[in-house]
Amino acid sequence: MKEFEIIKRYLTLDSAKRKDVIQGIGDDCALVKLPRGQRLAMSMDTLIGDVHFIADSNAADIAHKAIAVNLSDLAAAGAEPAWLTLSLSLPEFNETWLKDFSQGLKSITEFFGVQIIGGDTCRGPLSITVQAHGFVPEDVFLSRSKAKAGDLICVTGDLGDAALGLMIAQNKLQVPSEKAAKLLKKYRTPNPRIAAGIALRGRATSAIDISDGLLADVNHISEQSEVGVLLRWEKIPLSDELQDAVEPELQMRAALTGGDDYELCFTINEDDFDATKTALEAVGTNCIAIGRLTGKPGIRLLHHKKEIELGELGYQHF
Ligand code: ADP
Ligand code: MG
Repeated sequence: MKEFEIIKRYLTLDSAKRKDVIQGIGDDCALVKLPRGQRLAMSMDTLIGDVHFIADSNAADIAHKAIAVNLSDLAAAGAEPAWLTLSLSLPEFNETWLKDFSQGLKSITEFFGVQIIGGDTCRGPLSITVQAHGFVPEDVFLSRSKAKAGDLICVTGDLGDAALGLMIAQNKLQVPSEKAAKLLKKYRTPNPRIAAGIALRGRATSAIDISDGLLADVNHISEQSEVGVLLRWEKIPLSDELQDAVEPELQMRAALTGGDDYELCFTINEDDFDATKTALEAVGTNCIAIGRLTGKPGIRLLHHKKEIELGELGYQHF
């Protein structure tokens, strides 16, 4: 099959056609209309087979994840997602794989009302790069760098589930099947917290999505905002599945250093906590304060009244 036929058949979706797309797939450039008064927010991520996902896993899940991780970055900026570009490197023409991949693209783009407007296709080792484009009013854009000492540090969702999901997928952990399903789902098809990011506009002093593990991502806020962090272990939200599946030590390791949860971690002034919690709950997301920012550099964890000094322990490529 020729490259342009692949593009036409599997990548040009009849779903999620946005009114603000003047020109989508099929020309040299895509052209879109940015709403008046908004700023363009962009984020790009590459997923490589057997680095970011298990290469022989379900292609629909791979498509979901490739898009979800990018939307998660927009969520952390408080941006509303709109358009996607997609660069695909495929080792071979595999019709079943492409059909599933296309189905995965279709369902997540429909769900979030985003449109794939262009990209690139070539032959090579399996690799998927997505660039997500969205918009956000300039004055409420969320960043990593404006947190203040004294702010509460909060998270959405539960932490550590995706790390256990990965262990289950790799046959490194045995868990009863109904519990395994939830943990696997969190790893394979994460749910970017778009509505929560938008609800945090004008409330959070900083935000980041948890992709490399809580400590690694909190460390970015800590360094870029020049604040210290004191986390309270007993406040860290853990799912029942995670607590049933593994011993406390692995629970802690998964929740603090496991990647792939794609929850949001954000900081707010204590006075804004109640209103923020209400705003997040209104979009179906919980809001858990897990600690506080301090003037003392570094990341520390309060565990059974003992303070533990923590390094940066998340996933690193190099
Ligand atoms: P060109 O040679 O002008 O760069 P291509 O032949 O690479 O164009 O692509 C043709 C059209 O298909 C372009 O509009 C491009 O954006 C789109 N396209 C190519 N690959 C993809 C892909 N993986 N996903 C979505 N659109 C794609
Ligand atoms: Mg061209």
